[in-house]
Amino acid sequence: FKIVVLGGGESGVGAALLAQAKGFDVFLSDKGSLSDDYREILTVNRIPFEEGQHTEERVLAANEVIKSPGIPDKVPLVKKLYAQKVPVISEIEFAARHTKAKKIAITGSNGKTTTTLLIYHLLKSAGFNVGLAGNIGESFAKQVINDTFDWFVLEVSSFQLDNMYQFKADVGILLNITPDHLDRYEYSFQKYVDSKFRLLQNMQPTDDFIYFSDNEAIASELSQKEFNVNHLPISLAKKESIGGFFQGGILHLTRPPRTFDISANELPIKGPHNTINAMAATLAAMAAGVKDDQIRSGLLTFQNAAHRLEPVAKINGIEFINDSKATNVDSVYFALNSFDTPIIWIAGGLDKGNDYTQIEDLVRRKVKALICLGKDNSKLLSFFTPIVPVIIETQDVIKAVNHAVSLGSPNDVALLSPACASFDLFKNYEDRGDLFKAAVLNFVPNSF
Ligand code: ADP
Repeated sequence: FKIVVLGGGESGVGAALLAQAKGFDVFLSDKGSLSDDYREILTVNRIPFEEGQHTEERVLAANEVIKSPGIPDKVPLVKKLYAQKVPVISEIEFAARHTKAKKIAITGSNGKTTTTLLIYHLLKSAGFNVGLAGNIGESFAKQVINDTFDWFVLEVSSFQLDNMYQFKADVGILLNITPDHLDRYEYSFQKYVDSKFRLLQNMQPTDDFIYFSDNEAIASELSQKEFNVNHLPISLAKKESIGGFFQGGILHLTRPPRTFDISANELPIKGPHNTINAMAATLAAMAAGVKDDQIRSGLLTFQNAAHRLEPVAKINGIEFINDSKATNVDSVYFALNSFDTPIIWIAGGLDKGNDYTQIEDLVRRKVKALICLGKDNSKLLSFFTPIVPVIIETQDVIKAVNHAVSLGSPNDVALLSPACASFDLFKNYEDRGDLFKAAVLNFVPNSF
């Protein structure tokens, strides 16, 4: 049985290692170049591979292909695989076949990483034997080679879901669906929604489906189709008798017969979006059987990953926040909603087909200045020039920080929340956030 792995990143290399460990004949093919580390791992483990090309005959001769999520379906070689009916699966699908652990799978356009890390923290700090994988950290495939975990918490992207068929989540979480990555879905929002709902395929009536019912796309899909799973809706707007709701600053969770309450003030992660994430994570922990006091102490001790509404420092009383991970308009919506003081908003980068209408009102009410940090800011400029009193353009993150200091007053917030991808000026969103933090921490007055 021949397995070909397409793409030699973390998930591809992990899949190749697992395939070899399970005795398959495996070959890895990457059109670009591999990192030195991955090249060495494959060499040491005697896994045949190629770089800089896909040898078509070899790929098409596979009995099954494990495709990395970064490779779109429109690539001619992938089209040929589909045409020849060669099964094309994702690394998550492959790894799931080789573990008995129960799986909590988290998807959504935004909030996946935060919620995944929080659930992992709640289970881990309660003493569960739990692994963390998916679109985050070490690949799922690599971690199941010596399968020892009782639980896995998996962050799952739509690209991964697209090639998942038999995978079954024991607990599935759908945080929201808002336009993103539409270039991979023939610019059809419904296709993207369908992809997210693949999370529910194979889930059983006893499996918990936790979802944010205020989200329009989710609500509309659920009103049209039946899913025979245990529904646990969460809402900020409505009072839910089961699932979760938010009232008077308290998160109320019900998973019959249990209930659990906690005040939002006590949580280290702030803002309405994090209330949603915390409700989803708490319900997942309840489903896994984590005890109340352990959930409470886990919620209080959670530290989120960097670049997500991360406080950096205050300069002249202006609070600098790094939200570099906000690469679409919806995440900026929640970022702007998280502050009640005037905002100096630093945005821009590679536009992904953004429509700013959703945040127009918020920006009008809250943003006193916009600093555009991108190579081409034309879209931001044309939309916000009539709305924001001061707009400045720069391609230098240090200058962006300097401008924010000179425009700000004590108690303002200077918020890097770009709404765009970072690749025009930076290596990735982490690089953008790190350089921003360095610029804030190394700020020297009058240095421009
Ligand atoms: P993902 O892994 O889905 O990209 P992250 O947890 O990394 O999600 O958060 C990405 C961005 O989205 C952050 O800027 C954060 O402020 C924002 N965000 C987090 N949770 C939510 C949510 N539930 N709804 C909308 N935006 C969110």
